[in-house]
Amino acid sequence: MIDETILATIDKLSWIRQSLLWKIGKQYNLSPLQVQIMNCLNKQSSENSNITQLSKFLFITKSTVSDAVKTLEKKNLVIKRFSKENKKKSIIAFTQKGKNIIKKISAWNKDFNTQLKKFNNKTKKTISLFLLEFILPLKNAGIIDTAKTCIACENFLYNFNKNDESHFCKLLNKIVDTSEIKLDCEEFLEKKSVKLVNNS
Ligand code: SF4
Repeated sequence: MIDETILATIDKLSWIRQSLLWKIGKQYNLSPLQVQIMNCLNKQSSENSNITQLSKFLFITKSTVSDAVKTLEKKNLVIKRFSKENKKKSIIAFTQKGKNIIKKISAWNKDFNTQLKKFNNKTKKTISLFLLEFILPLKNAGIIDTAKTCIACENFLYNFNKNDESHFCKLLNKIVDTSEIKLDCEEFLEKKSVKLVNNS
């Protein structure tokens, strides 16, 4: 019963968030997919702002992303250019018009953030750890291709300091609190085998 409730709640929250994003996108004449791509681009580093990464992030085909990006280009919201780091690599960047609109679209998260602030940190850390770990078996079962979270990273030492339950990132040489565990870190290095820490 609890499993179904967890999944139904994840679905419900996800649909509420999608519909808020779509609603705000509509104000700027953007389809649901176009607004998702704009939102996704806003979170990616410029190196990851390409069709392949967007298709992985949104779990849709490259051709679907490519068509939507072409429409965004026609609307003068994004532009394709070569990466500064790798001149052969094409990346997608916001135009000035796109930057102005994404600033307004980013406000869609405001209501969720306000509500989340009302919960205590201990609860949020437990939930965050559970959700991040929940991605791992999905990858092992072949449902998703990657699970780029610190927990599955070669550089991560879980519960490094047992006294305060903090962790450690060997690459950044830095103590990591549970609230700082990352999703989609660019330096992620996949671990060969990952032991779930939240399953007792
Ligand atoms: S390299 Fe990135 S994903 Fe890996 S432990 Fe450090 S912060 Fe986390």
